[in-house]
Amino acid sequence: MKNKTGIYIHVPFCPRKCAYCDFFSRPLKDKSILDQYAQALQKEIQMYKTVSGPVKIQSVYWGGGTPSLLDTDKVSAIMVQLRRQFVFADDTEITMEFNPESGQRHRLRRFAEAGINRVSLGAQSFFDDDLKLLGRVHNSRLVYRVIENIHAAGIKNFNIDLIFGIPGQTITSWEANLQKAVSSAPSHISAYLLQLEESVPMYKRIEQGEYRLPDDDSAADLYALTRERLNSCNFVQYEISNFARPGKECKHNILYWRAGDYQGFGAGAVSLESSRRLRVVQSAEDYIGALAADKKPDVDILEEMNEAEKAAEALILGLRLCEGIYIDEFNRRFNTNLIHDYAGIIKRYEDENLLHCEKGRLYLDPRAYFISNYILADFLS
Ligand code: SF4
Repeated sequence: MKNKTGIYIHVPFCPRKCAYCDFFSRPLKDKSILDQYAQALQKEIQMYKTVSGPVKIQSVYWGGGTPSLLDTDKVSAIMVQLRRQFVFADDTEITMEFNPESGQRHRLRRFAEAGINRVSLGAQSFFDDDLKLLGRVHNSRLVYRVIENIHAAGIKNFNIDLIFGIPGQTITSWEANLQKAVSSAPSHISAYLLQLEESVPMYKRIEQGEYRLPDDDSAADLYALTRERLNSCNFVQYEISNFARPGKECKHNILYWRAGDYQGFGAGAVSLESSRRLRVVQSAEDYIGALAADKKPDVDILEEMNEAEKAAEALILGLRLCEGIYIDEFNRRFNTNLIHDYAGIIKRYEDENLLHCEKGRLYLDPRAYFISNYILADFLS
């Protein structure tokens, strides 16, 4: 745990699978598995060999899946276990992803008492047509109600997740979505373009011509509107898809984008340990079974990166951040010379005014954000 400042906890269950989702999650058929899973989580954390040192935990992130389905007392017990095992900073950010269907007021209060100090609400849209098309369980009425509940529970630091580029969405309806999100007084808004893997049901329906995704120009217009509206409402863009009130940027996600090490717990949870990416066994049953028998769950090594691969990953992640990469720090960390190693590609994009190298930083021009995937892929090729 020497250098790990973040903890990720994965809960791979959802009331049902959304039509666009390719995350590691599955529909919850039997609710009794939730308590068994929570117990297994607690045991896995308890069995974890902590190397105490000067490094303190800066962020804990409960993701999924839908972690807010778990029993509040069980979450509370897991938080106690985490605090026994790890040293927390005074201001550790502790986020839980919430879906509207599990955001009742008393549950939010209990989660807050358990130490959850940041909520990320998977609203996705404030319009029922969009939600239906996405295959979400909730409707817009529930989104409004949960936002009221978040405020009533005294949780000031909360994010609203939105999706744009949904078939049928117009500039006007997306603008209304942004307006409704801002009016809900969150501290953070994430706005992601709908992108579909071939394996998801929505992809097939689009292939069959049932509905259409917006073309690139329309999607770029929606993205431009997002930046313009959120910036004008004092949400500062700090990453390609993320906007926050000053000081409310998500610490945990910044850890990912800075390619920092973190420890994952739970079935399918990924950890980053210097040059190795590890993943806990994905079967929830195997995970629960191993821990019930006082054994550690199986962990696979997904990737072993050499120094150059690790540097390349840190480069493309870091360029997602609006402030970009601090060149000297990067060179020291990876014992490299960033500007020399990527001289050709940096010059090409600098000439196009899509990339800047100034005052010790390498960063994308905002005009490059929407096409960043292509640019970042170029750095890897
Ligand atoms: S709630 Fe999130 S994780 Fe669960 S199925 Fe829907 S998109 Fe996937």
